[in-house]
Amino acid sequence: MVDCMFCKIASKELASEVVAESDSVIAFRDINPAGPVHVLVVPKRHVSSAADLSSEDGDVLAEMFATMSSIATTEGLERGYRIVTNVGPDAGQSVHHLHFHLIGGRSMAWPPG
Ligand code: AMP
Repeated sequence: MVDCMFCKIASKELASEVVAESDSVIAFRDINPAGPVHVLVVPKRHVSSAADLSSEDGDVLAEMFATMSSIATTEGLERGYRIVTNVGPDAGQSVHHLHFHLIGGRSMAWPPG
C-alpha cells in the first residue's frame, strides 16, 4: 500500500532491524522500545488492523504467533512476555498496518494504561 510505513519496511524500502522473516511475515525491533525486548511482528500483506482480519487470514496469523514464540525463546524471555495489538484511536494505534507488539525483559503491570 502506498505510504504505509510497515509495507515499506516489509519491502526493504525503509530500513529496520529485522529479527525474523519469511515470505509472508517480517519481525523487526521497535524504534521506540517499551522494554528491553520490543519486536513488531507484521504480515507482509497490507491489513489495516486486527479489525480487518477474516477467517482467510488464519494461516498468516498462526505463522505470526509461531514467529513470536520463536523470538521469545531466542531473546531469552523465559519469565514471560506480552503480546499486544492496538486497534483504532482509543487504543492508540499509530501505524495502520496490523502489527503485534512482543514486549518482554521486564515485569509489567495490568491493566495497561
Ligand atoms: P501502534 O501505536 O500500536 O500503532 O504501534 C506502532 C509502533 O511502531 C510504535 O511502538 C512505534 O515506536 C513503532 N514504529 C514506528 N515507526 C517505526 C519504524 N520505522 N521502525 C520500527 N518501529 C517503528
